[in-house]
Amino acid sequence: MTTANHTNQHVLVINCGSSSLKYQLLNADHTTEALASGLIERIGQAQSTLTHRHGSHKRRIEQAIPDHAAALDAMQAAFVETATPLSETNLVAVAHRVVHGGEKFVAPVLVTDEVEKTIASLIPLAPLHNPANLQGIRTARNIFDNLPQVAVFDTAFHSTMPEHARTYAVPRQWREQYGVRRYGFHGTSHSYVSREAARILGRDVADCNVIVAHLGNGASISAVQGGRCIDTSMGMTPLEGLIMGTRCGDIDPALIFYLHRQTGASFEELDQTLNQKSGMAALAGESDMRAVEAAADHGDADSQMALEAYAYRIRKYIGAYTAALGRVDAVVFTAGIGENSPGVRARVLDGLSGLGIEIDQEANHTPGTTVISTAVSSTKVLVIATNEESEIAQQAVALVRHMPDAD
Ligand code: AMP
Repeated sequence: MTTANHTNQHVLVINCGSSSLKYQLLNADHTTEALASGLIERIGQAQSTLTHRHGSHKRRIEQAIPDHAAALDAMQAAFVETATPLSETNLVAVAHRVVHGGEKFVAPVLVTDEVEKTIASLIPLAPLHNPANLQGIRTARNIFDNLPQVAVFDTAFHSTMPEHARTYAVPRQWREQYGVRRYGFHGTSHSYVSREAARILGRDVADCNVIVAHLGNGASISAVQGGRCIDTSMGMTPLEGLIMGTRCGDIDPALIFYLHRQTGASFEELDQTLNQKSGMAALAGESDMRAVEAAADHGDADSQMALEAYAYRIRKYIGAYTAALGRVDAVVFTAGIGENSPGVRARVLDGLSGLGIEIDQEANHTPGTTVISTAVSSTKVLVIATNEESEIAQQAVALVRHMPDAD
């Protein structure tokens, strides 16, 4: 195996959750090519599972995986068992998804002790995510101590938002001392999909304005002008904006104080309710969009209203972002719901012909179709599969190859 030949180089992308670890081994030059991928779930519980895919091989292992160090060991063992030990795959970097980069990280960085400390200092802004991301980084640095480790932040793509879009009208001290502002999330997805949209439209990224609706379990929408994000729906945390599987999205913040006073619920409880028991779960009794659509089809009135509320919120943002962008070349749907639900796409775009957006129902209902707008629609409507791992890998590779001692 040669090391100087770029075509044989790989990058390992790691996405650590509190009790899970996702990984992908990607070609460093063609980052849409995943050589292997895996998911480890229920870390720290009695029965953890590891699912490893390599080509057509799939392995599922059930064993106790007490912590993230054991998870990375199990991942390495899975690579050995499928005859592709990581030590022989010519890795150029290990790339880590980190949810919150705060004001400090506006681009990927090479992880150092100092970077670890800064990510740790951002834990109050992302108490559910950054500790797990950090855990993955610390463990991987021990295991792959001869490799560059790169942190790629969910917030970074949105750092180009102008001040008037990212600022909350709250006291200066909150903004300056506590980092209270809008950051935005799902940045790697919005970055990847907006660039793909320009490519599909045959336009230069710098000359292309798109609205990207990332509709997964978590959901956010962004306005991207010439490749730069100018606004996005998630805010200081991933709670703001669209209605999501279990998150409420935009609300009047005063309802928190009202409910605290009326019910005696603690701020912890209210935080948990708004993040984990709201959204579609609260409106329709199901957070999974497939289940909500099925119930609505069977006449369930709550599910029908939930779908209308869900679509209306997105439609409002499309209107707002059309105003922010001035000219919109494409509205793009991505992530689990955006890529797979023609019903949601149709509801969202219903009645937007005044904005020059017209959906082609046949194309919309034909799986695998990329352009789903009519020929006369002045704003194109696209369906693009997101690939956050590819984007993370690409950003990490670009960084390590520009390091002073890179070959
Ligand atoms: P993600 O977070 O991107 O994995 O997206 C998860 C969401 O996508 C869940 O709400 C799923 O119900 C939804 N989803 C996946 N496939 C479909 C489908 N065929 N129709 C509607 N929703 C879907």
